[in-house]
Parts: sequence; structure tokens; C-alpha cells
Amino acid sequence: MSDCIFCKIVKGDIPCNKVYEDADVLAFDDIHPMAPVHVVVVPKNHISTLMEVDTEKTDIMNKLIAAAQKVAKIKKIDASGFRTAINCNAEGGQVVFHLHMHLLGGRKLQDPLG
Ligand code: AMP
Ligand code: ZN
Repeated sequence: MSDCIFCKIVKGDIPCNKVYEDADVLAFDDIHPMAPVHVVVVPKNHISTLMEVDTEKTDIMNKLIAAAQKVAKIKKIDASGFRTAINCNAEGGQVVFHLHMHLLGGRKLQDPLG
């Protein structure tokens, strides 16, 4: 999508601090980190929200999780622990409408159930 910030990052039109990349997924440091490790894992193809994922036609969620495992190892928080989160729509706190998984770690995280 032409006006989507994460599509622009995937295309290389906006720079990012790349952590991991494969054919389907890009992972980069969040620009406003909420923890010592805060990585955003995105599908390269534009999907607006979690509700737009067609689980019968795509295995992108599995690919996001596989990428998250690799990111956790790259950032050396696989053993200490981390949290993943996908915000969906307004009350879920979604601001960027290109599906993404947050991966947070590097410190003891607080109760997320705000
Ligand atoms: P969400 O609230 O789940 O939509 O999260 C969007 C996330 O994208 C926020 O944590 C932002 O800090 C992050 N973000 C926005 N623009 C950029 C960017 N150019 N590079 C890296 N992260 C970004
Ligand atoms: Zn997009």
C-alpha cells in the first residue's frame, strides 16, 4: 500500500534498523522502544489487521512466529524471556494499520492486561 509506513520500510523507502529478514517477513527495531529489546515483526505483504488474516489461505502467522523465535535468539533473550503482542484496531491500541507483532524483552515486564 503506497501510504503505509511499514510497506515503505519493507520497500526500503524509509530506513529501519533491520534485525531479521526472510522472503516473507521483516523484523526491525521499534522507533519508540518500550523495553531494552523492542522489535516489530511484519509480513512483507500488506495485511491491515489481525482480522484481515485469512488463516485458510496463508500461513503468515506461523512465519511471524518463526521469525520471532529467530529475533529472540539474535537479541539473546530467548532463554531470559520476552513477550509478543499484536494490537488490533482502535481499542486494541493499533496505530499502524499493517499487521505487526511486537517482541519485547530485556527486562522484567509488567502485567500487560491494561
Ligand atoms: P501499534 O500501536 O501496535 O500499531 O504499534 C506501532 C509501532 O510502530 C509503535 O510501537 C511505533 O513506535 C512503531 N513505529 C512507527 N513508526 C516506526 C518506524 N518508522 N520505525 C520503527 N518503528 C516504528
Ligand atoms: Zn503496509
